[in-house]
Parts: sequence; structure tokens; C-alpha cells
Amino acid sequence: MATLVLLVGLVALLVGLAVGKAWERYKLQDGVWTDRRRARESPHYMLGLNFLVASQIDPAIDELTKAAHAAGDPLEIHLILGNLYREKGQVGRAIQEHQSLLQRPNLRKLEHANVLLCLGLDYRRGGFIDRAIEAFTEVLRLDPHNRYALSNLEKLHEEQHQWTDAYATRQKLAALPGAADEAPRHNEILAFLEYELGQDALKRMDYTEAARRFEAAIDLDPRNAPAHLSLGDVRFYEGRTPDAAGVWERLVDASPERAYLAFSRLEGAYPKLSAPERFPALCERLIAANPQDWRARHALARHLSAYGRPGDALELLFEAVGYNPHALALHQTIWQTLSALDLPPDLVSRYVELTRDAIFYVDPHICLRCRYRSTELLWQCPQCHEWNTFVEERIAPAKSADVEAQGL
Ligand SMILES: [Zn+2]
Repeated sequence: MATLVLLVGLVALLVGLAVGKAWERYKLQDGVWTDRRRARESPHYMLGLNFLVASQIDPAIDELTKAAHAAGDPLEIHLILGNLYREKGQVGRAIQEHQSLLQRPNLRKLEHANVLLCLGLDYRRGGFIDRAIEAFTEVLRLDPHNRYALSNLEKLHEEQHQWTDAYATRQKLAALPGAADEAPRHNEILAFLEYELGQDALKRMDYTEAARRFEAAIDLDPRNAPAHLSLGDVRFYEGRTPDAAGVWERLVDASPERAYLAFSRLEGAYPKLSAPERFPALCERLIAANPQDWRARHALARHLSAYGRPGDALELLFEAVGYNPHALALHQTIWQTLSALDLPPDLVSRYVELTRDAIFYVDPHICLRCRYRSTELLWQCPQCHEWNTFVEERIAPAKSADVEAQGL
């Protein structure tokens, strides 16, 4: 996967996609064509590209170095060579290669921007955060619409938890020509950045500012789960329990697949509103809307157990386990409930029958972008740093049809 990403990146850089339209503009200018034609006439150039396509970086470097030499060292090939060193992990060599290009006289503005862009990527790979930020900022001064520099800059700010800067950078990305089609994704990310700003305000115990940020996040993306949870928490601590419950209920409506995140909060809040019956009613509504909702069944079962109805709870749990035999939490609750009922042999054997083919795994959350796995639901992927890419993976129960047919 990593190799494929690398390869796509390299080829894109070669054909001028990764650096936006910059190459297109750049190569039309005088003089560059001559270098390129000379480079292309060299057999080493084509050989180098072939090795690159085959992911054979070392021979690609050899051939491209020869091609560069034969063609009078054109800037373009040296940029690529530097990028290849970086991809090989030779960051120092990459920086050297790219920095030496900055010394060339008569660099055009876009050439300058492209060299700085590559240098910024070198610095980022080497962990020289400040210098990377400086390089990308300089690229944007030369070429304000450089999407590649903007997205790298955003990620760097995020890594540093500089949420205000990350936010401003994402806004610039959203304002680029042609970005209108991606408006929902931009808003989704801006909402997470607002949420992070709210978390920072919470740490300073500035609840007013925190609530304002969480509300802004929800305005940007009404499905943003963590902003709803935290806004409700702020209202709850302020003693505004009805408002807190209202916010959490809005999450349930806007994003039913994330509703479970608000379950324990709502279950705790309703009795304070003298309305404990609202929690089981909410679970039943969710189950009716989505019969596969094993979490609503689980929550309702625990609620019924707590209210002295372990028998009814167990029926719900058996249903839930039919829909998701891999959820460890369900099995734990089932054993607790069976114990509370003194392990009646008929129910124990029904449970054993139900779970005969179940496979258990503890990291069901998976990033759709890079396949990173996690025990918990995460809002930003620690591997690819993308926002809101986790889904819960479920293996279809082998005997679900049979289980349903038996009326469980
Ligand atoms: Zn990922």
C-alpha cells in the first residue's frame, strides 16, 4: 500500500499533477522545452521512468542521474532525484539536492515555488517542522493557490495542535477555485477543527468559548458527533440538564449510527429530568428504525437489568449477539446477566449454541483510507491523519439467517 502511494506520488510529480498546474505553466516558458527535449532524447530518461514505474528506486536514480548529466542538469530531473532520495529515506541527501537548486541563477517564480515545495516535503519527512512550515508558507507567497502546499501546511499545524492555523489553512483550501464540489468535506473537517478549538477552551475552563466553538462545529456539520457530546457536557456542568439532553438527542437524530456515544449521558440525564422512561423509549425507537442496531439493544438490555428485568434483558442480548457475534461487550453483559439469573441451564445452552461460530476480535474500528485498526472509535487517524475515516468492521454472522428463522 505504502509503495503504491509512493509510486502514484512519484508518477504524479513527473507528469505535473502533484504540484498542481504549476508545471504546465512553467514548461510553456522559454528555454525549458529545450532541456526537456534533450532529457527525453537520452535513453537514460526513459529507462529511469521505467524503473520508477516498476518501483525500482535505486536503478531509477542511476538512470535519471545519467539523463540529467546528458541533458545539462535540468532542474526538473534534479527535483525528481531529490524526491526519490526522500522516498528512500535519505532525507539529508534530498535536502542537499533540492537546496542546491535554490542556488541556481534566474530561477523563475514557479520554479522557485516547486523547489521550495519539494524542500518542504523533505523537511517534513525529516521532522524539521518549523523549517517545513517556513518552506510551505514561502511556496504560498510565490504561488497562493498551491493546493499541495496548503494541505501539507494544514497537516503540520494539526500535528502541532495549532488548530487556529490549521483552520485558516483549511479555509484557504475551501476557497480555491473548483473547491465548491468538495464543500461538504471541507465543512466536515472545519467542524473537527472547531471542535478541537473548543477542547482547548475547555482545558482553559473557558466554558462560554468552548460552547461557542462546539456550536460552530455543529453549524458547519450537523452530524459532527464529538461537538454534540462536548456541548451537551458543557450544558450539563452548567446545570442546564434539559439543554444537555436536547443536544445529545440532536446527535441521535442527526447521526443514529453514532447515537450510542450519547447513551450513558442520556441514561444519566433523564432521571434528573424525572423522566427515566425516556431512555428505554429512545432505544426502542432506534431499534425500530434499524433492526441491526445491536448497541441500542445492548443499552436497553443493561437498562432493563438495572430495573430488575434480567430475563427481558437476556432476550434482547441474544438478539443483539445474532446481529453482531463479535462484540465483546455483549458477551460480557450476557455473562453478567446469566449470573444474575443464577445460570439457568436452558439459557446457558442457548447462549453456547448462539456463539458456537463467533470469532472475537477487539479492534473492530478500521480507517477506510489506510486500513489502520483501532479498539476505539477515533476522529482522526493516527496513521494517515485523515478526519472521520473510521467505520466499525463487522463480519456477517455465519448463521444469521438460521438465527432469524428461529425467531431469536
Ligand atoms: Zn488512516
